[in-house]
Amino acid sequence: MQNLFKTIFTGSNQALEAAKGAVEGAIEKKGEDHKVEFPDTAYSLPIIYAATGNKIETLADLKGALDVVESLIVEELELEKALNGGLATAVASEIIEATKYAVDDNPYPEGCTGFVPDHVIRSLGVPLVTGDIPGIAVVLGDCPDSETAANIVKDYQSKGLLTFLVGNVVDQIKETDVKVGLDFRVIPVGYDVTSVIHVVSVAIRAGLIFGNVEAGAFDKHMEYTKERVPAFVNAFGPLSELVVSAGAGAIALGFPVITDQDVTEVPTLLLTQKDYEKVVQTSLEARNIKIKVTEIPIPVSFAAAFEGERIRKDDMYIEFGGNKTEAWELVTSKEPSEVEDHKIEVIGPDIDEVEGDPKRLPLAVVVEVAGRNMEDDFEPVLERRIHYFMNYTEGVMHVGQRDTSWIRIGNDAFEKGFRMKHIGEVLYARMIDEFDSVVDKCQIKIYTDEDKVRELKDEQAQPKYDARDARLEELNDDNVEKFYSCLLCQSFAPAHVCIITPERLGLCGAVSWLDAKATHELDPTGPCQPVEIDGLIDDVKGEWESVNKHVEDNSGGSIERITLYSLMDDPMTSCGCFECIAGIMPEANGVIIVSREHEGTTPVGMRFGELASMTGGGVQTPGFMGHGRYFISSRKFMSAEGGPKRIVWMPKELKDYVRESLDATAKKLYDIDNFTDMVCDETIATDSEGVLEYLQEKGHPALEMDPLM
Ligand code: SF4
Ligand code: ZN
Repeated sequence: MQNLFKTIFTGSNQALEAAKGAVEGAIEKKGEDHKVEFPDTAYSLPIIYAATGNKIETLADLKGALDVVESLIVEELELEKALNGGLATAVASEIIEATKYAVDDNPYPEGCTGFVPDHVIRSLGVPLVTGDIPGIAVVLGDCPDSETAANIVKDYQSKGLLTFLVGNVVDQIKETDVKVGLDFRVIPVGYDVTSVIHVVSVAIRAGLIFGNVEAGAFDKHMEYTKERVPAFVNAFGPLSELVVSAGAGAIALGFPVITDQDVTEVPTLLLTQKDYEKVVQTSLEARNIKIKVTEIPIPVSFAAAFEGERIRKDDMYIEFGGNKTEAWELVTSKEPSEVEDHKIEVIGPDIDEVEGDPKRLPLAVVVEVAGRNMEDDFEPVLERRIHYFMNYTEGVMHVGQRDTSWIRIGNDAFEKGFRMKHIGEVLYARMIDEFDSVVDKCQIKIYTDEDKVRELKDEQAQPKYDARDARLEELNDDNVEKFYSCLLCQSFAPAHVCIITPERLGLCGAVSWLDAKATHELDPTGPCQPVEIDGLIDDVKGEWESVNKHVEDNSGGSIERITLYSLMDDPMTSCGCFECIAGIMPEANGVIIVSREHEGTTPVGMRFGELASMTGGGVQTPGFMGHGRYFISSRKFMSAEGGPKRIVWMPKELKDYVRESLDATAKKLYDIDNFTDMVCDETIATDSEGVLEYLQEKGHPALEMDPLM
């Protein structure tokens, strides 16, 4: 153990010297006052910010940060000091990486990500809390060969893990057919050991973004990462002192290190595994990550990591829908006697019987389910999962829903033997598995016969779609008996409670009232709980005693009251994974809304990330609120302050996204035509004056309303 400690300190000192050199070099090139920042983050240099509470702004500040590294290196041969030595290496690495960005806007080669921006971390919030991404693997160094590297990474991929690659393994993976990119959950970070800090930075920012962990309290950050960020490290190939020292840093954050080299093992924290076939299993066990597996009898892989896979025209074997042919899908409930479990029928030609170029077929997918606890309200919830289940299938792409679906099957999948019945196998297996408490039996009918597809659309699908629309139309906050809460995000934001009503979906955009209701039915003790609507305090702001009590009970007492319809008085808390954020623009007497995807600045002088950093982590920030995209056109959107007509600015993309429904709401509520056109966007102005000018020109209603503040 003594030798291990010595190696760690040697590595820390090397890192310190390298950091000193890097800072000096950068100052020589750019001068002390030169700006230091990572792209698209509100947390400056996140590790240093989390450790000290200070935001580094210039190269001179960075020079000061070297003291932090020095203070962490205390060369006494005991575990705690050694772990601190590891943290010293982490801070030194961040300094080195920051100098790279200081001297070069784009220091990373094509194909490597380097620093991971805030919005990517926010987008990972929901999949991490739902367990859709069960863990984070950091694969570092040099595998014996590309094939071994590919086997390990593919195994993580098939299990849904998010894998970061650092070092030569980046090139090893490049030589193989492993699909890489955020969409495939395999992210090449960089070649230098110090670039591993960009992964540590993700973990640390999870605490800042979702956990509201205070900057400057590094012990709290270490506790957070240890308890809530399910990451681990695989270090392959010869271990330099620097790598060992960086590994100690990982261990200090609670991330076990598994290596193929001989090391002094530290139980559960530092392990040797020389059998490459067992690396994945050893790693998952060390971090206590459990994987749910469903074997599906299909000739291609099935994993959430394939969700983002696109099939381009050249790789396409056949397509369905997409306005070229009729295509629709339906989940419908039946009497138990009408359903034969696991029956899969293909009615019409299979894909190997189709001629022509490009090949096309019409398609109807009908999933018939029966179960004692099944309700009509759950049909659309199950139906929307079809999109995911098909996308998780390697070589199959699915876009849209209901009768707008568009499906492509790739050449590779076809050659491996994928046929229409396999779509049925996938849907059957997943429906039974995911919805086991409402689906007792399930059968699938896949139609490719043109007449049948058309006929059944009129007879079966359209009437169902219409009935559901009518149901949604009539559902509102005033006529339901219960609201629901969602506590999923508490694994990252312990005090956050979403209250979900028919007119206000969860702020991640992924959970509607019907979804929450179904989730509760499926898992009565799970993340969605019914909330009584009782003891009205204020009907304009939307405050009830029962809701307050529910939030207080479920936030560990940290939030005592919330309103559902006010932005200014006790607005709902935000966890961190919200799709949009609304914030007041006092001079326009209204609010701006910016979506996570929008990278530019806004008329309040801040970008999404900066705005978001003010309100995440389960705290209330009057005047600012995270919310889902669909909430924008709800009549309950900040209705206490006048509703959607307060919206004065949104990114163009968001305007186009909500235009139809927002226009309809504004017409209904205020009798205003084409309201969305009155809302300014970045193509018109992002400065206060420009926005005001535009609002005046359009006669925007917010200018005439009661003062917001
Ligand atoms: Fe998280 Fe709220 Fe979405 Fe639930 S509804 S996953 S708590 S953001
Ligand atoms: Zn969340």
